[in-house]
Amino acid sequence: MSEIRVRLRSLQCRMGIPMTNRNAFYISSLAIVPVLFALFYGLRFVGRAYGIDQWVPKWDTLLILAVMIVVERIYTYKYAVSQRSVLARDVISNVVNLWVTGTVTGLIVLPILAFFPEHFLGRKLILASPEQLGSVWLQVPMVLVSVSLFRYWMHRLQHTVPFLWKLHAYHHRVTDLQATNTFVSHPIDFALRNVVIFLVLGVIGFSPLALLVAVPATGISGTFSHCGGDVKGGLLNYLFVTPEVHRWHHSEKVPDGYGYSCNYGVEFSFWDIIFGTYYLPVKDGIALQPERIGYPGGGLPDESNYLKLLLAPLGLYGPLTRLIQVLPVPRGPRGQQPAE
Ligand SMILES: [Zn+2]
Ligand SMILES: [Zn+2]
Repeated sequence: MSEIRVRLRSLQCRMGIPMTNRNAFYISSLAIVPVLFALFYGLRFVGRAYGIDQWVPKWDTLLILAVMIVVERIYTYKYAVSQRSVLARDVISNVVNLWVTGTVTGLIVLPILAFFPEHFLGRKLILASPEQLGSVWLQVPMVLVSVSLFRYWMHRLQHTVPFLWKLHAYHHRVTDLQATNTFVSHPIDFALRNVVIFLVLGVIGFSPLALLVAVPATGISGTFSHCGGDVKGGLLNYLFVTPEVHRWHHSEKVPDGYGYSCNYGVEFSFWDIIFGTYYLPVKDGIALQPERIGYPGGGLPDESNYLKLLLAPLGLYGPLTRLIQVLPVPRGPRGQQPAE
């Protein structure tokens, strides 16, 4: 029996799962990814039909994060690292990137994008009608390809262009992938990879129905890729960015011959296969995982200070702290000690 199977069995023994249930547990860890993907995808339409998003914006993403936390408790991961010490940073990042970044990016970028059709064509959208792009069912794969290809290359650039890496590096300083740090990213880094392309497609004038059908498919696996549970992607590893695939992107040791990193896809992993950046070693049918997650090559610890994450890459954190030091801060009378 291979070393991996021995490890897996000892893990199952430690979890106290009876022998007869072990296979069922393993199969469930394999089945849970497609089941959840299908469930989350269906729920988007239910939510849309009942207008839930108007009451609780981003409710579906919150639900995915909540389910991810439950999955992490059930399918415990052998190399899990507690994220409790950076929980405040995680919560602030999630709130900012879930509810603020998209709106602010839209307010800044949309007028710039809309300027061209308004100035040159005299209308808000580039296309006079969505039908110019063909039927809705043709536009769905067009949206899927454009979004995932853009995000793949943007993500790759974020690892290779020094300024973009300065922003993106904070996402790579986390020491484990868990639901809580799914949205830990500098807002500009997050917007470039996850918001801009949707604004571009909107201004081009894609059919709203095509966007409605295609967009959820691009969001679910991207969000779920940070699940810290020991869930197996199986064959889906070659189509979607599952946690098993994304962990290698966050590996502290970049696999030999992969330069800056591997597995740049945000939702679909087949772009990595096509462009030669896919990495997922498999032994005896089981995907191997990196032992340490963190800044590539080590050296930089996780950043728990959100203000530093936000301002340091823009060169503003130093001036801010210096300003705070020279500002008159009210202090108590000198020499007085608090009463015992
Ligand atoms: Zn990255
Ligand atoms: Zn990530």
